Amino acid sequence: MSQDGATAMDWKKDGQSTNSTGNGMGNCVRNGSNGVVYPPYASHRLRLNPSVDHKPDNYDDLQLDFSPLLFSSLERYLPPALLNSSRDQKVHFMREILLRYFPEGERTRVQKHREYRQKIISNYQPLHRELYTMHAQNFFVPSFLKAISENSEESFRNIMSEPSPGVFTFEMLQPRFCEMLLAEVENFERWVRETKFRIMRPNTMNRFGAVLDDFGLDAMLEKLMEDFIRPISRVFFTEVGGSTLDSHHGFVVEYGMDRDVDLGFHVDDSEVTLNVCLGKQFSGGELFFRGVRCEKHVNVETQPEEIFDYAHTVGRAVLHRGRHRHGARATTSGQRINLLLWCRSSVFREIRKHQKDTSSWCAECQRNKKERQRQAVAATKLELLKRGSSAI
Ligand SMILES: [Zn+2]
Repeated sequence: MSQDGATAMDWKKDGQSTNSTGNGMGNCVRNGSNGVVYPPYASHRLRLNPSVDHKPDNYDDLQLDFSPLLFSSLERYLPPALLNSSRDQKVHFMREILLRYFPEGERTRVQKHREYRQKIISNYQPLHRELYTMHAQNFFVPSFLKAISENSEESFRNIMSEPSPGVFTFEMLQPRFCEMLLAEVENFERWVRETKFRIMRPNTMNRFGAVLDDFGLDAMLEKLMEDFIRPISRVFFTEVGGSTLDSHHGFVVEYGMDRDVDLGFHVDDSEVTLNVCLGKQFSGGELFFRGVRCEKHVNVETQPEEIFDYAHTVGRAVLHRGRHRHGARATTSGQRINLLLWCRSSVFREIRKHQKDTSSWCAECQRNKKERQRQAVAATKLELLKRGSSAI
């Protein structure tokens, strides 16, 4: 069982790189090996309650190492005296505060990954530009579009099947979209070969495949998550942050004779995973599921009712919790390429740090909880029986 740790690291880079937009202002005082020292504002603090009537500045045009939105939101928490000072002064103050919470090593990594992406995007010529912005009518099958526009549990259930609890499958992508995306990925890989560009693979477990976000598809995939996957996840995966999905990692994996053959049993670094087969012709490559588990129970044995195998068909999506243990059987002939979208919720991850009870989604925690309840009921019955007999 692999927890796919390095995948988590790669993912983090992706998730956070969208929040950092450029080089730092370089105006803080650094103390070499000991990190950053903040003499000017060390004593300054934010207010506990925001100044709700204050209209924050816009920071979009500045080259900052944190998201401009973060500055706008934080501005309401500034000490009142600072609210009407210059934008530069406010930025300086807020950045000093933010730097305390974002370690330097992490910032360097984010910056490196940003540069890596920019290098690709400024050199790579896309084949199908229409893939890079969301064109729902051209991408999705009509039944899927209809269900999303109706946006109810009933409309989703109408197009979905749930062959095993927590595993949802439905027709999603038009054949033409699948072909175009496959051609785009091939085009990208040709470019990588020709230019000998060293690319990062999607995760630690796949030696082949490409991160779609790295060559410009991140905006389209973000839209796919926000407008299509989040509405469904809000209904079916609420207890793992389905309604607050706020970042993604989008990539393709390639299986076949001269590619990866299979994929071991693992969990994803996501709250919700979308997995859609794009093609081509293949046999084998079934996706197998073995129950949802929290970190503590990730290696606990599978119950018979948790065993489920799914055979991919082109254009059909599978949606499941990231903690739903799974793997891919060997693709025995041909070539299989799947689109993966790992959707993550920062809110859920923050809550998880303080939450002990994971029985709302971990099957093992659930079984343990039921067993404890059963024992408690049995003990109470016994106690009542004793009291009853002593009363007689
Ligand atoms: Zn558990």
